[in-house]
Amino acid sequence: MPQARIEQPDMQASDMTALLERQRAAFRAEPDPPRAIRDDRLRRLAALVKDGRARLAAAIAQDFGHRSVHETLLLEAGPALAAIRHARGHLKAWMRPQRRASALEFLSVRNRVRYQPLGVVGILSPWNYPLFLALGPLVDVLAAGNRALLKPSEFTPAFNAALAEAVAARFAPEEVALVQGGVAEAEAFSRLPFDHLVFTGSTAVGRRVMAAAAPNLTPVTLELGGKCPVVLDGTWPLARAARDIAIGKLLNAGQTCIAPDYVLAPRAVLRPLAEAILAEIRAMYPNGAQDDGYTSVITAQHAGRLEGMVAEARDAGAEVLEAFAGDAAARKLAPAIVIDPPRDARLMREEIFGPILPLIPCETAAEAAAFITAGERPLALYVLSRDRGFREAILSRTQSGGVTLNGTILHVAQTDLPFGGVGASGIGAYHGIEGFRRFSHARAIAEPLGPVNPMHLARPPFGALAKLLERVFIGG
Ligand code: NAD
Repeated sequence: MPQARIEQPDMQASDMTALLERQRAAFRAEPDPPRAIRDDRLRRLAALVKDGRARLAAAIAQDFGHRSVHETLLLEAGPALAAIRHARGHLKAWMRPQRRASALEFLSVRNRVRYQPLGVVGILSPWNYPLFLALGPLVDVLAAGNRALLKPSEFTPAFNAALAEAVAARFAPEEVALVQGGVAEAEAFSRLPFDHLVFTGSTAVGRRVMAAAAPNLTPVTLELGGKCPVVLDGTWPLARAARDIAIGKLLNAGQTCIAPDYVLAPRAVLRPLAEAILAEIRAMYPNGAQDDGYTSVITAQHAGRLEGMVAEARDAGAEVLEAFAGDAAARKLAPAIVIDPPRDARLMREEIFGPILPLIPCETAAEAAAFITAGERPLALYVLSRDRGFREAILSRTQSGGVTLNGTILHVAQTDLPFGGVGASGIGAYHGIEGFRRFSHARAIAEPLGPVNPMHLARPPFGALAKLLERVFIGG
């Protein structure tokens, strides 16, 4: 099926700069908006998602070729609304200045931290969950009192057009505005002197974005990708493991940053596990590739890359089991399990980001931890085990952005948990209070109370008092 492409109104770098300047001028006029203003912006954002959800979901389906409206509503619109509800419910507490302790020598000083907005925040987002990954960061950015420019991916032109219209209908351009265009526009966007830049996408592009932000000293939050492992020790019921893994892997046809990328499990369970996962996938999509719930791969180029990965592993002698046949014209890939592929195959070197799941034999927690730590630190990690000692052994010997124990994906949906990577999977976490603080400046405020300012005691000329203080604070 040839993909209908919508022409995007590309924006000149000078127009982006003008938009940024306009937002910055508005920010300077109101550098610390009160809660009522922030809450009103969040309320309008909620209305945008709620009232616009059918149109936005239809646009996303158009961009993908096929994606169930239910998938978009459950995995994107729902979580965005949950994040807004959480932020609105906690904004008062988050904004309240924090009392901080005073050291003995400064007992007459009152200390507090006041969280104030940074200014104008840029949000560069990917195509895989175009709504949640543009509006999720925006929730925290607005809660923290900032203004925002959004630049969604060039692979979702229909969504971008629908979102641009919805944003323009609910927000003044100096509050929130959207920039459309291709990679050139994204590059120009990343060079703008924002007060903070949030990038969600691949690790390779994340490096470029950080380099582009460096000359402006623009701080970055990088939400990147990687290979997320599932570790199974054989004590977790296989049918339950198969369900946990199949759901996590097949959502959005595997085009999920925290999708299980590969499974480490004892050799003896690999085959029964593979059979159970295949059965689970067939139960999830009773009409195979034609099933409404099964999403297309975003472009023919992405599909070709995934097919190439499977072909390479098959040619190298790995066993490939398919849940059902694919539909090439609709860019729906056959969901495939690859048993014990060579470790140097592309499948095991790159983030897969599609409906392909390698199963790797691995007998002990120590072996699994060694396998994981030999690679880059993943964005998510899943441990399926009834044995608390096993789960703890994996947790204490590895690092990852987040973890779901005895399940998959769940941690990203918890509004009060931080979400972010570590090492190559990202810099900085957001969601909930972590997001509010990420996009705020923690301003330290000290205030001497009463007639004595302790600094006056350290005033020259230094004499007997200085000697006394030296003895008290440094020791004899
Ligand atoms: P990508 O890195 O190709 O693109 C992301 C964004 O960067 C797009 O908006 C694109 O227009 C822009 N871009 C492209 N080239 C650029 C450049 N040179 N300078 C500045 N911006 C540029 O990623 P993608 O293919 O859209 O998304 C898939 C990747 O994103 C996967 O690696 C996935 O794991 C990761 N991801 C991470 C998260 C997370 O929360 N950590 C969420 C979703 C996806």
